[in-house]
Formats: sequence, C-alpha cells, structure tokens
Amino acid sequence: KEKDGGQPEFIQAVTEVLGTLEPVFAKHPEYEKAALLERLVEPERVIMFRVPWVDDNGAVHVNRGMRVQFNSAIGPYKGGLRFHPSVNLGIIKFLGFEQVFKNSLTGTPIGGGKGGSDFDPKGKSDNEVMRFCQSFMAELYRHIGADTDVPAGDIGVGAREIGYLFGMYKKIRNEYSGILTGKGLEYGGSLARKEATGYGLVYFMKEVIEAKGKSFKDATVVVSGSGNVAIYATEKAQSYGAKVVAMSDSNGYIYDPNGIRLDVVKEIKEVRRGRIKEYADIVKGAEYTEGCKGIWTVKCDIALPCATQNELDEESAKILVKNGVYAVGEGANMPTTIEGTEVFQSSGVLFAPGKAANAGGVATSALEMTQNSMRLPWTFEEVDEKLHQIMINIYKQCEQASTEYGFKDNFVAGANIAGFQKVANAMMAQGIV
Ligand code: NDP
Repeated sequence: KEKDGGQPEFIQAVTEVLGTLEPVFAKHPEYEKAALLERLVEPERVIMFRVPWVDDNGAVHVNRGMRVQFNSAIGPYKGGLRFHPSVNLGIIKFLGFEQVFKNSLTGTPIGGGKGGSDFDPKGKSDNEVMRFCQSFMAELYRHIGADTDVPAGDIGVGAREIGYLFGMYKKIRNEYSGILTGKGLEYGGSLARKEATGYGLVYFMKEVIEAKGKSFKDATVVVSGSGNVAIYATEKAQSYGAKVVAMSDSNGYIYDPNGIRLDVVKEIKEVRRGRIKEYADIVKGAEYTEGCKGIWTVKCDIALPCATQNELDEESAKILVKNGVYAVGEGANMPTTIEGTEVFQSSGVLFAPGKAANAGGVATSALEMTQNSMRLPWTFEEVDEKLHQIMINIYKQCEQASTEYGFKDNFVAGANIAGFQKVANAMMAQGIV
C-alpha cells in the first residue's frame, strides 16, 4: 500500500484477491518462502511513453501511452489496450493484475498484461484516431510480439483502432504476424471474437443460475453499458428468452418495458457511434434518464454490469437486492465496489466476478492466436462451441476451488484460488526470476 498509495483501483483489486488466498497459503507454506505474493503484485515490466499526434487543424497534442507486462509465467503477456481520458498507471495495473488470474482460468497458455492511453477517441475524426494509433504503435512495436506480448482492444479500442495499430506495426516491422487480437476478419481476425465477451458472460451465468434451478427464460435483465460487451451479452441473453429492459452509456440510461430492441442499439452505437439517449427518440414507449447510476434502480432478476470499474456501489447494490435481484454477473472488469460485492454476498445473491465471467473475450483472443499460428481460420460455430466449453470449464474450476477451500458458492474466492494456483505452480517451477 505504501508503494502504490496513489493507485486506489490497483490496491482494491489486490485487496480483493489477497482476502481470499489465505487458506491457500496456509496449505502451501512453500509459497510464502518463495515470496510468491510479493512477486505476484509487482509487474514484471512497466513501459511508459510519449504519444505525440497532430489534429485536423494542425495543433500538436501529447498523450501518455503505457503497457504493463504483469506476469508471463504461463505464456506471453495478453490483455487489452484502453483509450479513455481516465486512464492512469493505477487503472492499467489493476486491469493487468486481474488479467493474470483471468487468463489462467481460461485454460489457455497466456500471461497477463494491459495497456492504454489517456487519449479520448470520442469526438475525434477517423484521421485523428489513425494518427494517434500510428504514433502509439511507433513506440509500442518494440515491446510486443507474437511470442512476447499480444495486446487486444478494451474501452475505446475497437476494430477501427486495432486496424490502424496493426497496419503501423506491419509497416515498421515488415512482418505479418499475430501481434494483436480483435483484428478484422480479412486480416487474421477470428469469427466470434466480437461477440465473445458478452456471449461468454451469459454462458457462464447460465451455469451459475441453472445450478440453482433458475433460467434466463422470461427473466428480467438489466445490462449496463452499450459497448461491445453490453451489446453481445444482451444478444445472447435475449436468445435464451430473457427480457433485457435497460442499457446505458456514461451519460444516462434507457428503460424499455417491452424489451430492448438490439437492432436499434447496434445502429446507434456500432454504426453511428451515437449516444444511448437516441434510442428513446426512435423506440416508442422507451424512456431515457440522465445519469448512468440510475440504471440500478430498475427492477430486475439478473444484473449484468458491462460498462466500467466501480459503476455499481454499495447503495446501488442495496437497491438491487431490495428489488429482488438474484444473480449479478460482471461483464466489465471490477464494476462492483468491494462494499457492493459484500452486499450481494451477504444477501445470498449469486455473484460472478469479472475475472471469471468475462474471460470469454480473452479466451477467444487466445483462439485467434491459435488460428494465426496455424494460418487456418475456424468457422463461427467452431469458435463459439470452444468458447462455450471454456466458460463451462471456468465455472467448474470456480465451483471446485470454492468448495475445496470452504467458500461454497463464493465465485470470487473460487476464481481467485483457481486462477492463482496455476500461475503459482508455474512460478514455483521456474525459480526466483
Ligand atoms: P466499449 O468501449 O465498447 O464500451 C464501454 C461502455 O461503457 C460504453 O457504453 C461506455 O459509455 C460505458 N462507459 C465507459 N466509461 C464509463 C463510465 N465512467 N461510466 C459509465 N459508463 C461508462 O468497451 P467494452 O464493452 O469493450 O468494455 C466494457 C468493460 O468490459 C470494460 O470494463 C472492459 O475492461 C471489460 N472487458 C471487455 C472485454 C472485451 O472483449 N471488449 C473483455 C473483458 C472485459 P460511453 O460511450 O458514454 O463512454
């Protein structure tokens, strides 16, 4: 805490993990002797760099770029790039730390990393975004590689940005290799990657709720956000017969008692890059309310926070519980505060943490890496089936680990323990490095 005092999100993520690992350390005294914890919370490498770029009016801007290569015990660093004005080192470290456990849970050989910039793509022209991405890659290229570090998208980094980043890497290195995932289908991307995080979340939650005799069929669901994860979580939940009644963006939320029309949301968000507010202008009977936090006052059976970290606090958690929510699945990374999580857990709500529930995205990125190495694409159905199986396996690992260590039905503990064990054993085997 002393070293990282100015990094509250990182401290929060570490506190949450350490709180559940005590019984594992009690059973394995050799971990403590090898200072495993101290090594685990220190990134292997942090890279920070200047990203200068020129806007359409000729003005020069400078943003900060970074990449945190957190842990490579079980494979090359893997994790997204986030472009958002709120980005700072503490946020990237928290995301990188979480990524280590998440990637381990997927059962694929990938280590953990994360990166990004405080650049805000919102309101920028395509050319400005392109120039920024090119400048970002003009430094990042020396630190990544198909067997070293393979970044992907995250908030503010979608197909457009990945394309520009990939193009610049290829130009500088004169090399066509799978150094990024989330690529376009024409140049090495994987079918079902776009859908993977949202679909995976719903596959995971399906296991969680069906084990308790519940189902998505006719359940009322609230999904926060309206970005990549939110849209495809909504799509899969609807395909299982759920009624999704609310979605949001950072300005406010929409409520549609008849069930969200996803074609309209996709048109606004994916095609026009507009605001969720526009939905209420198009769909009769839908309401828009200013302020994104209000979305948690909407009554639902299942809540899927899919926007950003700490968007669901104690107060919102209490309202959800009062309104009868029985399951919460994190599509975003750490969207629930520690206090919010405690409210859910003490009220008997089935609570699935992001590092397990949203692991489908990175798992499918690993499948993209496999296809790139083989130079052979799989069909949508093949990838989706593998994704589904991976999510079922993650559920089983969490279930098993939580039961073994006396945390029955506590998926936070289950995910932390199961994710930790593989990394810990790999680190032990590789010596003090
Ligand atoms: P997108 O950029 O596609 O969408 C993000 C959504 O969250 C937008 O609706 C955005 O609204 C909203 N949002 C962003 N910041 C805030 C804020 N401060 N308050 C309220 N809403 C906000 O990102 P993704 O859907 O890709 O990512 C969403 C979450 O899922 C993130 O936590 C990410 O780390 C996590 N995740 C993503 C994966 C992926 O494969 N994409 C994989 C695993 C996790 P607005 O448009 O107004 O900014």
